[in-house]
Amino acid sequence: MIKGITKRWMLNTLSVIITIIILLVVILIFAVSYLFQSQIEGELHSASNELSVVFSGFQAENASEFTTASRDYIENFDNKEQFGVMVLNSSGRVVLTSTGFLPSEDEKMTDFEEAKANGNGYAFWNGRLLSGELAMSETRIITDENHNVVGALRYIVSMDPARTRTLFYSATIIAVGIGVIAMVILSGLSFIRSIVKPIRRLSDAAAQIAQGDFSASEKIEHKYNDEIGDLCDAVSDMAKDLQTTEQMKNDFISRVSHELRTPLTAIKGWAETMQLSERGTLDRRTFDRGMGVIIRESTRLTGIVEELLDFGRIQSGRMVLMKEKIDILAEFDETVYMLKERAVEEGVHLLYDDPDIMFPPIYGDRNRLRQVFLNVLDNALKYTPKGGMVAAQVLYNKEENPDVIKIIVTDTGCGISPEDLPRVKEKFFKANQTVGGSGIGLAVADEIMNLHNGKLDIESGEGVGTTVTLTFPVYKEGEENENPETVKL
Ligand code: ADP
Repeated sequence: MIKGITKRWMLNTLSVIITIIILLVVILIFAVSYLFQSQIEGELHSASNELSVVFSGFQAENASEFTTASRDYIENFDNKEQFGVMVLNSSGRVVLTSTGFLPSEDEKMTDFEEAKANGNGYAFWNGRLLSGELAMSETRIITDENHNVVGALRYIVSMDPARTRTLFYSATIIAVGIGVIAMVILSGLSFIRSIVKPIRRLSDAAAQIAQGDFSASEKIEHKYNDEIGDLCDAVSDMAKDLQTTEQMKNDFISRVSHELRTPLTAIKGWAETMQLSERGTLDRRTFDRGMGVIIRESTRLTGIVEELLDFGRIQSGRMVLMKEKIDILAEFDETVYMLKERAVEEGVHLLYDDPDIMFPPIYGDRNRLRQVFLNVLDNALKYTPKGGMVAAQVLYNKEENPDVIKIIVTDTGCGISPEDLPRVKEKFFKANQTVGGSGIGLAVADEIMNLHNGKLDIESGEGVGTTVTLTFPVYKEGEENENPETVKL
């Protein structure tokens, strides 16, 4: 069954080409047969025209004089091979022929009557003789000086050779037409096959990829350097990306499960220990330590779950912000303050000088922005080893750049390799597998910055350290009316 592109090509293109070729063939056949017919007609007519010359000075006294004169003419007529000549008397009966045989009385040829009637003295006849032969004739009326008809001369020629020639040429034209159609079909089919085959292979591979068999992308051949080749490349790139994402997603699930299990184990362990303390076997100090662990680990759990929820919201486009005019410096101050103790615990110097200038407000969601600050500072501490340094600054230059506020967090940690740097904002991506973390923190932070029309830029040198720059546009008068949908809860 012919279907798809082949069927469409057959309906749209091939049918038009075949119709045009058939039309051309028909026109050519008609032209050839018309050409042969008119060629013979021309020859007949020029032979018959000779008569006007031969009989121009002829003054017949009577019919028998004409018969004698025409007998002389027939005898001397040197084109007998090509034409037959008949002498007709004044009533149209054949009285003499160049072959010597008189035609049957029943042979009905209308050219004599027509030539007599039409005034110019000659007429053609075209038809089948009683013998079955196709023939063409021209009759020329001979008159005396008083314009009385004394007789006529008829030239007759067989059309059978012309018909044979016409048939031969027609057959040749039809054969050439069929040949051209066959060539068009063959070349068209091979061209279509060169499109359909790789596309079919590609769609099979895509179906396999869709079912999770990423190895199918290796079967995609890049055979042609054209749109199909580009499509093959695009599908195999897509498969590779999907495979990487799938791998990252799986890693993410196992990482997150692990991250959830660690605090749960600690909480469960301490809860069980404290249950025993009810029976008075636990001293106050151990009890306080246990409670501290339970609270800290629960907070960590809540943080992980919140991050996952935010990630889900971003993925489904449901993240809504509660924007208001806020003092970004105050929010950042508080976040840094929160992490001071942890920096001391981890042996990392956290440098931060609260600038004592007035900052213009920005229009944003304070909780979400704190989340961004926390993520950036948390990463800086997390990826900086003991003895390292994390420096934070909030910058505003009213003269040079009055429209933006920048927060810059620099660390002297492990840094990020140039290959990984462009990908760290991707979801699930973790450049450093040795340190804990879900790999979605920066993806969420970047999205929150975008929703604030801000930017999160990362520069890093492997083994040198990392600098994260957050850029915020300052509040513009009437901004709350510009995109109200992000304001509502
Ligand atoms: P994670 O939960 O793994 O920290 P993030 O999305 O916050 O996930 O960060 C993505 C990756 O970017 C991290 O796994 C880490 O490899 C790299 N990264 C982020 N911040 C820093 C930094 N300050 N120093 C070194 N690497 C960093």
